[in-house]
Amino acid sequence: TNLLEIRDLRARIVGGRDILKGIDLDVAPGEVHAIMGPNGAGKSTLSSVLAGKPGYEVTGGSILYQGRDLLALPADERAREGVFLAFQYPVEIPGVNNMYFLRAALNAGRRQRGVPELDAAQFLKAVRDKLKLLDISDDLLRRAVNVGFSGGEKKRNEIFQMAMLEPKLAILDETDSGLDIDALRVVSDGVNRLRDPNRAIVLITHYQRLLDYIVPDHVHVLSDGRIVASGDKTFAAELERTGYAHLGSAA
Ligand code: ADP
Ligand code: MG
Ligand code: MG
Repeated sequence: TNLLEIRDLRARIVGGRDILKGIDLDVAPGEVHAIMGPNGAGKSTLSSVLAGKPGYEVTGGSILYQGRDLLALPADERAREGVFLAFQYPVEIPGVNNMYFLRAALNAGRRQRGVPELDAAQFLKAVRDKLKLLDISDDLLRRAVNVGFSGGEKKRNEIFQMAMLEPKLAILDETDSGLDIDALRVVSDGVNRLRDPNRAIVLITHYQRLLDYIVPDHVHVLSDGRIVASGDKTFAAELERTGYAHLGSAA
């Protein structure tokens, strides 16, 4: 059974024209889906709508998450129910310690699921375990959330947050033009280590190169608000050769 079922999803920025023009997508637990496509296709809009970011308006269709109407849930509740959007958190919060921030988010999710909250010692142990798993050094944890982080450090922090929050559905929108070699490695190692039979990952990217390191189960092309083509892991390499232009409504 699917974790996520998107049917004929239509959405726009409030007051604007439709950007998503009928998206259909099924994501099962354990799967990694890559969503590729040209600039302006609606990839970031899709991730924003999934996360419930304000400023977007759904004009048609449906999203079921664990069989429930995702669109009926406010953004914070989606997060507590296990939907993680990278870039939901990388706002800079001067004076707020990264660890404090993360523990509050983690315990909000645990309360929602009726799981006991972690005390300071348990939290610290969980932090150590995840840092080890991800091969991340602990120096960035003592700093205020994202303040003055480099691109690679932001990615490291994002992957670490994802590991700590243990989402069921992780959405990574690699919208940055600044995915340098360091950040590319952080994202690909992180995603590969966090692959899990109970977790689905939707990786939005226009970097075919990223998919040399993260081998997806499914690859989709989003173009002009619709998924115009889908394939398996070999499809990404094919796209690198052929481009998007020959695919239906591609821009
Ligand atoms: P992608 O992530 O695939 O590059 P986006 O979802 O960011 O595409 O953008 C889809 C379309 O919506 C583009 O035409 C873009 O110009 C437009 N758009 C994105 N954000 C805004 C905004 N805040 N206000 C108005 N138009 C926007
Ligand atoms: Mg499938
Ligand atoms: Mg984008």
